[in-house]
Amino acid sequence: MSILSKPYFHDEKAAFEYVESILWADGPECPHCGGLERAYKLEGVRTKASRKNPEGKERHGLWKCGHCRKQFTVRKGTIFEESHLPLTKWLQAIYLMVSSKKGISAHQLHRVLEVQYKTAWFLAHRIREAMREGAFDVFGNGGGGVEVDETFFGKEPHSTAGRRKRARSLHDKMKVLTLVDRNTKQARSMVIDSTRREEIVPILNANLSKEAYILTDEARQYQSLSFYLSGQKHDRVNHGKGEYVSFKNPEVHTQTVENYYSVFKRGMKGTYQHCAKHHLHRYLAEFDFRYNHRSANGVEDGERAALALRGVKGKRLTYQNAG
Ligand SMILES: [Zn+2]
Repeated sequence: MSILSKPYFHDEKAAFEYVESILWADGPECPHCGGLERAYKLEGVRTKASRKNPEGKERHGLWKCGHCRKQFTVRKGTIFEESHLPLTKWLQAIYLMVSSKKGISAHQLHRVLEVQYKTAWFLAHRIREAMREGAFDVFGNGGGGVEVDETFFGKEPHSTAGRRKRARSLHDKMKVLTLVDRNTKQARSMVIDSTRREEIVPILNANLSKEAYILTDEARQYQSLSFYLSGQKHDRVNHGKGEYVSFKNPEVHTQTVENYYSVFKRGMKGTYQHCAKHHLHRYLAEFDFRYNHRSANGVEDGERAALALRGVKGKRLTYQNAG
């Protein structure tokens, strides 16, 4: 049986039960008062009659709280709340996004899910929010290697390259900094305004353990880096001299983070093409998420979708801040 034939992709009642089983693993939680014990399911409730549905539509996943007497569904307080789209379509969209290595465009979601393009676009951005994991642990614990590199992409919003022209210099492009922890195999990417040391150093100190072993290329901002860090060890590989793995020490290279960028760049060029700077952090969250939960780390598509689903809580994205 194909994973796509799972009932929760096609049947709204099954979709609610699936999402409830993940978000309410210990039973329903009232989003109004936080009550945990006295909620009961309301069966057979229908929406008001309309011309399209003279008998109203069945309301799935409806619960009532015995403490505060209010009704709720598992969509409340999640990225699904402001949307009228059936939960089945959301689950299909999440599955497509977590299982496509280079992402899936809003155009393709629009065609596959048979929703309006604009709907698909907002859907995808909300799912990226669900994938956003935030910085929890520092990288490089126990002296582990952390590769640090940056990549340049698209065009800075106020670049001098002109409206239609492509950005010529790196200065005119948007900049991304990525850290990859070799031991935990996790990546953390962020949008930066410049590659100057003044901007990079605080990020490194905030995200890296003091014992971390930092590996970079020979770019100017990494010269004498140790002097500015809070004790981390640092080594550089000299790409300019044709050195991709240090001749002296084979541990010194940035191949892992470069592999991360090759997926990111193929995705951004091939799938997404245009991306405004104020949305870039969400695309990075998407690529980080898939990388951190990739099958090489033992996470398969279905499990990855369930992990993304856990992130839907408390991440409501309104049209205003999506703009
Ligand atoms: Zn309540």
